[in-house]
Amino acid sequence: DDLSAPTKSKGKGKATGGTDYATDDFVWSPELKSKLRSVFKIQNFRLCQEGACNANVDGRDIVCVMPTGGGKSLTYQLPALLSPGVTLVISPLLALITDQVLHLAEAGIAAVKLTGGTSKAESRDIHNRLLAMATGRLGNEKEIKLCYVTPEKIAKSKSFLSMLQKVVNGGKLSRIVIDEAHCVSQLGHDFRPDYQKLYVLRQTFPRVPIMALSATCPPQVLQDLLKTLGMKPVSDGANATVGSTVYFSSPLYRPNLHYQVLPKPASAQAAIVAMKDYIMEHHPRDGGIIYCLTRKDAERVAEGIMKESGGKIKTGVYHAERRDEEKEKLHLQWRRGDVKVVCATIAFGLGIDKGDVRFVLHHSLPKSVDGYYQESGRAGRDGKDSDCLLFFRPADFSHIAAMMASERGGAAKLHAMLDFAQDLRECRKIAFAKYFSHSSQLSMSSWTTAEKNALAPCNHCDNCTRLPDSFTQRDVTLEAWQILRVVDAVKATGGQLTLAMLADLARGAGGGNYEVGGGRRGKEKMDLNLQAVCGGKVALKKEEVETLIVHMLVQRYLVEKYHQTAYNTVVYLGSGPLAVSLTRFSRDRLAIDAHAPKIECCFRAATRKRKSRSEKEGSKSSGKRKRQAGSSDEEEEESDA
Ligand code: ADP
Ligand code: MG
Repeated sequence: DDLSAPTKSKGKGKATGGTDYATDDFVWSPELKSKLRSVFKIQNFRLCQEGACNANVDGRDIVCVMPTGGGKSLTYQLPALLSPGVTLVISPLLALITDQVLHLAEAGIAAVKLTGGTSKAESRDIHNRLLAMATGRLGNEKEIKLCYVTPEKIAKSKSFLSMLQKVVNGGKLSRIVIDEAHCVSQLGHDFRPDYQKLYVLRQTFPRVPIMALSATCPPQVLQDLLKTLGMKPVSDGANATVGSTVYFSSPLYRPNLHYQVLPKPASAQAAIVAMKDYIMEHHPRDGGIIYCLTRKDAERVAEGIMKESGGKIKTGVYHAERRDEEKEKLHLQWRRGDVKVVCATIAFGLGIDKGDVRFVLHHSLPKSVDGYYQESGRAGRDGKDSDCLLFFRPADFSHIAAMMASERGGAAKLHAMLDFAQDLRECRKIAFAKYFSHSSQLSMSSWTTAEKNALAPCNHCDNCTRLPDSFTQRDVTLEAWQILRVVDAVKATGGQLTLAMLADLARGAGGGNYEVGGGRRGKEKMDLNLQAVCGGKVALKKEEVETLIVHMLVQRYLVEKYHQTAYNTVVYLGSGPLAVSLTRFSRDRLAIDAHAPKIECCFRAATRKRKSRSEKEGSKSSGKRKRQAGSSDEEEEESDA
């Protein structure tokens, strides 16, 4: 028999020869169950916890992807009690580590932490205890079971690594756990350079099994992570092949989260009012988070919401540049409820331990779908109904793309996010499931049951509940062709267009004027004859043209062209690899030629607008105050054209 096959008390091996870890018939199963109850005071395993524990005790390399709050910690803490020696846990944040070590101490488990904040004396004591374990001088009952460190320890501390080598030599390092493992990959949304240095672990200790934990691990991130950490390709936890990394994932879908993407009003002020109105109407007394793109935005939104609500909504600001005392104070005020809404950049994240976050609003488009899943997922960790709203405006694309200009794979990530935001039809649950499915690149037959179950629509997101007349799907092939002709015509004169400029120019706003040049020769005003270039104005509303342009970017009819100035990055648009498939047609042939590509786009219907316009009519004196979340500002858009 295969030596590496796990010891099962009853033979229930699969015909394919893989091991099914998701069972309770391993020789250690009774002990696992009893420790679960006696030590952790938990009655039953959740999701894929039992399988992950089994593969763990069996000494396998493991990747385990479970949603935030799903219970990933248990999948290494419980097996640590059944294994000889110490389990090393690498975790990105001091706050997370402190929290875990406290919980473990309460449960009577010997857990320690070695971080920047650990005192010299304490650190020496821990080193000594670990060395004593390595040489067998410490009785089994005195062993440290879990040792938490920040990644810097691995990346920067030679003395720690050499001490670890001694523990390994003594056969006392049972496993290495990497929490928040997506931080390893630059393709993820939370890359940390120190995490990338974790490759030394497999290099230095090739025989010590590794477990990687994450809440968000789309296929490319998973591949990157495996490669960086020196782990073998994955096989499913229900049919794990010899020598592979055992992969577990539980449904990412959290039924208590209600997702919606809403059109974001054009002016900054109106966007703030829309958010204020939403909070006042749906969550007047609840705690929530508003994620903003920049530090400035966070400050502006916090101030605006406080003011617009007449002080009723108490807001706070969180971003990386705030001082530690300020951050700590805010955390405290928020937990106590003195601050209701935290307006933050994505720096506010890991380590939020507040369960009753009732809403997460996004003031601007997140940079990636993983980021969005993670950030919005901070709502409703207590399992109660919570709202996740994304305020989206295609024109926001330019700022975000500029910020991501230097990120590896940044454009592709942003495109997936744009696609999600512009989609008015697909269930959000399915959209997430498709994005995150590790098997999406494999055949359907290798999908896990959890992944198959994930394909039933949720029936409560915006797209599942959308009325059929709230949007139209139209053939906009001609309009797309016109846009490409405008791009080419402007390029021929040496001009460059941003998304906003292109949208205006194509619609004939501003009489077809645009500028060329700059630099030493100064700017030159140009005039575009739309009639001659593409047979006239693009007959779409401003918001619609922007939607179409974004769609064309995602589909590669257009591409980003990054222009670096002394102060910032400007994102211009150029024709993309697919453009020729359209531009080789003349306007007339486009309509009749069967070989012409057909471009369709979904636009939100105008019904709501008409209603809100009459509302506005009746309340002109109160200005913009009456506008509701979800209404779009047609008038305002026209006026800034
Ligand atoms: P994650 O790291 O996946 O975000 P944690 O490991 O921090 O989640 O667990 C979240 C919470 O769920 C913790 O309070 C933990 O005690 C609890 N928990 C974990 N497993 C179970 C279970 N099987 N039954 C009940 N509660 C559980
Ligand atoms: Mg965790």
